[in-house]
Amino acid sequence: MKISRVTATPLNVPLHIDLMGVDKKTSLATCYVEVETDTGIVGHGFTSITEEDVVAQVVNGVIAPNLIGDDPLLHERIWEKIYWTTMPRGQTGYAAHALAAVDLALWDIKGKALDMPVWKLLGGARERVPVYATFGFGFFDREQLAAAAKKWVADGFRRLKMTVASEAIKHKNDRPIMDAIREDAKRVQAVREAVGSDIEIFIDANCNLDLYHATKLVEMIKPYNISFFEEPLTQNDVPGMAQLRRNTGMALACGQNEGLLYRFRDLLSAEAIDYAQPNVCITGGFTQCVKIAGLAASHNVLVANGGAWSYHNMHLQAGVANGSLVEHHYLAVELYKMLYTGLIAPKDSWLTLPDKPGLGFEPNRDAIAEIAKLPLSQGRAKG
Ligand SMILES: [Mg+2]
Repeated sequence: MKISRVTATPLNVPLHIDLMGVDKKTSLATCYVEVETDTGIVGHGFTSITEEDVVAQVVNGVIAPNLIGDDPLLHERIWEKIYWTTMPRGQTGYAAHALAAVDLALWDIKGKALDMPVWKLLGGARERVPVYATFGFGFFDREQLAAAAKKWVADGFRRLKMTVASEAIKHKNDRPIMDAIREDAKRVQAVREAVGSDIEIFIDANCNLDLYHATKLVEMIKPYNISFFEEPLTQNDVPGMAQLRRNTGMALACGQNEGLLYRFRDLLSAEAIDYAQPNVCITGGFTQCVKIAGLAASHNVLVANGGAWSYHNMHLQAGVANGSLVEHHYLAVELYKMLYTGLIAPKDSWLTLPDKPGLGFEPNRDAIAEIAKLPLSQGRAKG
């Protein structure tokens, strides 16, 4: 089998939020990739939380010409080739997104060629994965947030994640960071009081606090029993996270936007995290994420899905023995429904893996072609 064509399509996918009295239009920037073969098998891949147009140009202009004629089943060989072509000094960035999207398509091809779902090719550790719902967006006011938490629990979710520190460092000149985290503490309290003590709650600062304010926030929310704190610190600061973890006892998680394996080595060897969160759509695809899972296993640390994209990441979390949570991110799932068919809905906080070969869901090419005609985000919609 040989690769005959590689194409990337940048998409700025429009989304309509109509929830809890919030009526708002937004969009998520994503890049959809297809790898075609001379056998007729076509694999599809995907990346997001980046600049969709730049990543598409990396795939179409730099990666694609180098892969024509290669055997798509040799994922390690192709991964190495893309690495040395696009980021030979470990610089990650847009190239890591592009590499991840292509790698997912190769694994989709492998599954289709071998008539196996990807999660079984990765090891098949479990047939269903526990899911948490990311519901707690910054656009909700405190009352809407509490109402939304109740709605997700009523829909069967037993684990909820909410954002905190909404761009706190970025906007520190407009609003003191301490004001932001005081409001966060009230929002966490509102959610805990709305859902009761049996529901797990996670918080996510999207790398928007420094060590001092993250520590203060953890102290403020101690009564509300938070299960983990995701991306608490700017730049996933390794010594800072190790100190935060040691000083507060809060479980920490991060890694969704890290590009390469060595960053996880540093996080793990510094004892900075309780959950490693490589995202297969961003962190070098399945080929690299299984290595990160192995590295995490050597530290008795679980991997978990952060950064959304449940239907790609469920394969990693189901495949490896130390896989765990999958993120059912409300907006991301709405996007999946627009671009793909064959998606399995979670039930009672569990997502059952598909039996179909490859990724187990397929693109809606008509919908993708229509969305591709819309204006791109130009940096305004990172997801
Ligand atoms: Mg996150």
